[in-house]
Amino acid sequence: MELEGRGDGVKKVGQAVASVSRGKHGLPVASQPSSVPPRPSVGPPPSRCFLETSIKEEIKRFCRRLVHSWWNDDSICLESVTYSCKEPMEEVRSHLPGLTGLKNLGNTCYMNAILQGLCSLPPLVDYFLSGKYKAALHKGNGEAATAFGCLVSDMWLGESACVSPEGFHSVLGKRYPAFSKRTQQDAQEFLICVLNELHEALKKSSKRKCVPDAKGSRGGVSETPTIITELFEGQLSYDITCLECKSTSHRPESFTVLSLPIPSKSACSLQDCLECFFQQDTLTWNNQIHCSWCGSKQDAAVKATITKAPQIMIFHLKRFEWQGKQKRKLSTDIWYPLGDLDLSPYSSEEVQRRRDAEYSLCAVVNHSGFLDDGHYTAFCKHSVSTNWYSFDDAQISKLSDSSVQTHTAYLLFYTCQSLL
Ligand SMILES: [Zn+2]
Repeated sequence: MELEGRGDGVKKVGQAVASVSRGKHGLPVASQPSSVPPRPSVGPPPSRCFLETSIKEEIKRFCRRLVHSWWNDDSICLESVTYSCKEPMEEVRSHLPGLTGLKNLGNTCYMNAILQGLCSLPPLVDYFLSGKYKAALHKGNGEAATAFGCLVSDMWLGESACVSPEGFHSVLGKRYPAFSKRTQQDAQEFLICVLNELHEALKKSSKRKCVPDAKGSRGGVSETPTIITELFEGQLSYDITCLECKSTSHRPESFTVLSLPIPSKSACSLQDCLECFFQQDTLTWNNQIHCSWCGSKQDAAVKATITKAPQIMIFHLKRFEWQGKQKRKLSTDIWYPLGDLDLSPYSSEEVQRRRDAEYSLCAVVNHSGFLDDGHYTAFCKHSVSTNWYSFDDAQISKLSDSSVQTHTAYLLFYTCQSLL
């Protein structure tokens, strides 16, 4: 059975890093860490100018543990240590590690919001801060990962309250010229490009073959795992039933971002968006399938199930849509939970059995304003203090949990709870 006429369904950048969405009549098309870094509790709210002694001690212990693990790893180059943290045992920082603003280079709030979101994810930060990425880089294609590693180091171990992401921006701009212009871009597209670039830089070039397993369920994944696929890649299975002969086939598809339709113009919940994405759809007219049993094109029913839950689930709320030739923004107020997001109703029995389907919110990328003059910000849960912070380019402010829910959410990052 072959699928045809998928409409605006799949948005793929590279083979292993793909964003999947669901067109109105198209096939529903579809987005965690090996170790979690130390998470000392730091108690009362931190201030940039004044840190109570207990907080200072916690931060020093945190930095010391990071640096200690570096010194004990012979494979790691220590240039980033000398660059960013010369005397970690003695230094007292004026701000918490990871609470570092990013300079706006001219309409680059979309980039800053994505970078803050990614740099708040403990397993990804741990991987880059530890220097493990340097061993995985392959020659001639490691610029993006190196620039990202430097930026993570600056944001987590640097002394400045605000740093410039110019180095990373310049590397990405070479590969994707649209991002080198100082014009507003779509944060979700930028995210896909960043994940793709990091994956390309870190994958092993020697094992590029597509090797499905016995059940063929890994068909879409073609390379050896990288930190990007380990954390962000999930898998859907589409069950496609021919409405004529009732035969069913299963089509696996990997994803890194789930693009969810918004079923209401005024208000709805993330669950409503998920229901909409995972509901059974009928493929007719130009979207018919070629049924190998019938030997002809037929209408079909298609339903998606999560067969592999990623460690970090990224939802893209499809606020921007085309209406004829006009693009417009949906300002729907979407309610989303901070914890206990249960994806088991949309998951295979295996995922449910492993309790992989429960998630907690860890970052939000917001888009406020209209189509062309909007502004991106990020809300991130700080992994050390567990407090929420708002990142608006160079500005950082603390948020109460109740303020994390806003009508501007555009991308939601959830971490699998079994890893917390
Ligand atoms: Zn058939």
